[in-house]
Amino acid sequence: MLADKDRIFTNLYGYQSYGLDAAKKRGDWDGTKELLAKGVDWIIDEMKSSGLRGRGGAGFPTGLKWSFMPKESDGRPHYLVVNADEGEPGTCKDREIMRHDPHKLIEGCLVAGFAMRACAAYIYIRGEFVHEAKVLEDAIAECYKAGLIGDDACGSGYKFDVYVHRGAGAYICGEETALIESLEGKKGQPRLKPPFPANVGLYGCPSTVNNVESIAVAPTILRRGGAWFASLGRENNTGTKLFCISGHVNNPCNVEEEMGIPLKELIEKHAGGVRGGWDNLLAVIPGGSSVHMIPKSVCDTVLMDFDSLRAEGTGLGTAAVIVMDKSTDIVRAIARLSEFYHHESCGQCTPCREGTGWMSRVMIRMVSGEAELDEIDMLLDVTRKVEGHTICALGDAAAWPIQGLFRHFRPEVERRILEYKNSRTAA
Ligand code: NAD
Ligand code: SF4
Repeated sequence: MLADKDRIFTNLYGYQSYGLDAAKKRGDWDGTKELLAKGVDWIIDEMKSSGLRGRGGAGFPTGLKWSFMPKESDGRPHYLVVNADEGEPGTCKDREIMRHDPHKLIEGCLVAGFAMRACAAYIYIRGEFVHEAKVLEDAIAECYKAGLIGDDACGSGYKFDVYVHRGAGAYICGEETALIESLEGKKGQPRLKPPFPANVGLYGCPSTVNNVESIAVAPTILRRGGAWFASLGRENNTGTKLFCISGHVNNPCNVEEEMGIPLKELIEKHAGGVRGGWDNLLAVIPGGSSVHMIPKSVCDTVLMDFDSLRAEGTGLGTAAVIVMDKSTDIVRAIARLSEFYHHESCGQCTPCREGTGWMSRVMIRMVSGEAELDEIDMLLDVTRKVEGHTICALGDAAAWPIQGLFRHFRPEVERRILEYKNSRTAA
């Protein structure tokens, strides 16, 4: 279990004020000017040596991403864009950071922005997070007043502004290029990559889009050293991580833990265990709805990190652990996710626009068993035609829950289809 001394988010539950004075007592904004004085290369090297991998879901190395920003100016401004459009089902960690620890994020914006020679950070926050946007605005105002950001940030001579922009309720605007389009005032639809944002990002300028948690941990990493962060967790899966545990557990919660903690330990130590005991567990979606579910047999031993979960054919994603006990109608649960992805598809590419609707309609019939047995393989075939053939990852995210369902629970769907058929024959 993570020792208190290694905890980064010491106000995760909001027991203390989010304001500047309390944040400083917790260690935020301590020696920030000195951190900046160590220079761009030092900051990026520390981030690289920390091994931090992006906390938004994809796990791309953060220091490496920062290093992609152009070293020489070609006259275009550079921007940091913070992805606070937390919309992944099951995920509610960035919300807690912004609600209770906004200064970690704002200080993170400054050090990250400095490292990528950015003039400003835009925090694109999910529209529904009305309270969190207000907290952020308050904290940003405190920082301007105290000279921590603005014309001479922390007395460093560096000018840096932070803006909050509220989204309007589209899940797809959490995809980094759709987010950029939306920030520019356009319809939120993903762009083809490459070019990646570091070359052509916000307003056509070099930009880096990072998740809230990735940015919020940066100041602590720089203060305590990349080696400290890398000493936690496992090789290639370092540091601490916020996990969101929901569903059929006794105590749903957000918790900061070491990467690589066994899933069983995470659920039993922090969430009070599975409702009705561990043996009552059916399956877990370990990283938000965009990753494959895993059955209990895998949950018994799997470790919660990028590589261990990948080895089991799933992913860490946003580390949103959705626990389903044996009372779950697993077919209905996956059908609901299919409906979600259909609803949230931006409609730009045909496999996703048509495929998500098709998959959702068939899944709804499979819940009641009103389908033919050979439609299972047809449906799987459609998921494979969508997966990897779309502009953004939403197509994959729509395909994977269905693939996971049939990988682990195919007999249950077959049983429903046969039962429905028999009931019709008997009638
Ligand atoms: P991705 O792998 O395409 O990209 C991850 C990041 O790395 C991006 O910033 C991208 O620009 C960068 N990158 C990747 N390859 C690069 C290269 N060759 N050169 C330069 N930069 C490169 O993944 P993604 O589409 O950004 O994210 C998908 C993940 O998002 C899913 O796995 C899901 O878990 C997660 N997700 C999170 C939420 C949320 O609310 N936090 C919502 C939906 C999905
Ligand atoms: Fe839009 Fe779906 Fe294509 Fe992504 S995969 S660009 S959400 S249509």
